[in-house]
Amino acid sequence: PTSVPVTRPDAARLTVLSGPTAVGKGTVMAEMRRRHPDLWISVSATTRPPRPGEVDGVHYHFISHERFDELVASGQMLEWALVHGRNRYGTPRLPVEEQLSAGRPVFVEVDLQGARQVRAAMPEARFVFLAPPDFDELVRRLVGRGTESEEERARRLATAREELAAVAEFDHVVVNDDVTRATDEVLALMGLAAR
Ligand code: 5GP
Repeated sequence: PTSVPVTRPDAARLTVLSGPTAVGKGTVMAEMRRRHPDLWISVSATTRPPRPGEVDGVHYHFISHERFDELVASGQMLEWALVHGRNRYGTPRLPVEEQLSAGRPVFVEVDLQGARQVRAAMPEARFVFLAPPDFDELVRRLVGRGTESEEERARRLATAREELAAVAEFDHVVVNDDVTRATDEVLALMGLAAR
């Protein structure tokens, strides 16, 4: 029931990717999309404003705080979290459940708090932690990206330190020293063809 080429019978499962800020989750996800255009990846809802180049409904559903409140109150979020003390991000529940019932592999990217909530709700999911080669590299990437203010960077790095300590809570760790190799590894863990 899936058009995504799989290498293992357990591919039709929920895979949760998490990891600290600026570790390259977005880059790995873009590479996954490129190699598997048919793979279903959850589009999160967020109260954060779009960055240049981000498209509503593609990178995120950009919604108001009021709308976010409604979705949480009506139980439509599989998980949600206040990230970096500022904006809320959440995974709409229904599309994930629909894809899983259809026997398709499902991929979500969430922060650590979100990963813990998904584990509580769906312990059978596969939890993958994307790790930087080292902390200095994380700082370089965040500064190099140049999309956050000094204050925002400091906030994100503080969160990242805490998040790195949670690596042991995950089933698998993938070190993102090279995007192609890291993507190969995530796809292999998911039971999807490397391509
Ligand atoms: P950014 O603002 O850089 O796009 O994302 C900031 C953080 O929000 C990242 O660490 C990312 O993992 C997290 N995030 C993105 N979508 C979700 C989501 O649906 N749920 C949760 N809990 N975190 C998310």
